[in-house]
Amino acid sequence: MSHPVIAKGNVAVITGGASGIGLAAAMAFARAGMKVCIADVDQTRLAEAATKLSSVTAATHVMTFVVDVSRAESVKELERAVGAHFGGTDILMNNAGIQPGSTLFGEPDNWQRIIAVNMWGIVNGSRIFAPSMIARRKAGLIINTGSKQGITTPPGDPAYNVSKAGVKAFTEALQHELRNTRDCHITAHLLIPGFVFTGLTAKGRTEKPAGAWTPEQTVDFMIARLEAGDFYILCPDNDVPRALDEKRMLWAA
Ligand code: NAD
Repeated sequence: MSHPVIAKGNVAVITGGASGIGLAAAMAFARAGMKVCIADVDQTRLAEAATKLSSVTAATHVMTFVVDVSRAESVKELERAVGAHFGGTDILMNNAGIQPGSTLFGEPDNWQRIIAVNMWGIVNGSRIFAPSMIARRKAGLIINTGSKQGITTPPGDPAYNVSKAGVKAFTEALQHELRNTRDCHITAHLLIPGFVFTGLTAKGRTEKPAGAWTPEQTVDFMIARLEAGDFYILCPDNDVPRALDEKRMLWAA
């Protein structure tokens, strides 16, 4: 099976595309013949990622863009640049994220930043790209990367939980809106990765811990679920029902 939007000549824009899950998605889309724009705040990593992409596709099919997804103006510049370079966007993957850790009553600037990047990044990307994607009257996808922590909200990192709960709520609202928009062929999807070994989770480790997924496994699973038409792309190692049960027990104690 193959997804009709993940197709030769179509354009994918991936935020947080310089590493981890975002780069794995860019590699998979490029292998499928898509033109890819990787957008990231880290210029050095973007250049390294572009070299990797050029090993699987023509350099003319690769665009890099320095963006800070937390700033709407920066995302607008990205949207304009992709339009000018590739003519429009078929897949937008709002994936940039950070997890520096947080405490409930501390670090107001840290809270602001986590919510600005993780939640506003997804809101900015979706709100800024969706109108021009809809106007093309072509099939397209908006994939937002959430987290199990936005559903089960475990103790320990409240700002991240809040930001990812916002991603879930926003993406559900987006899908509802897209379904009710006339002549709209864009669908939204919420990717909930499991434990993926990336820069975000490595915490000094150089070897993938047992049980962790690779970014490539996560992207293969995501593409299979997009082909099946899922809105919630819940990687199976999450076990959300068990996590919710544990939380109910914690609250009852
Ligand atoms: P990663 O650190 O490898 O990738 C995140 C990328 O986002 C980096 O390249 C970083 O430079 C970029 N970025 C950070 N702030 C940015 C900004 N303001 N503007 C643009 N780009 C920015 O980590 P990853 O694990 O691949 O994370 C990708 C997404 O997956 C994140 O949203 C993360 O919350 C989510 N996620 C990851 C896991 C996991 O286990 N790794 C689990 C659940 C959800």
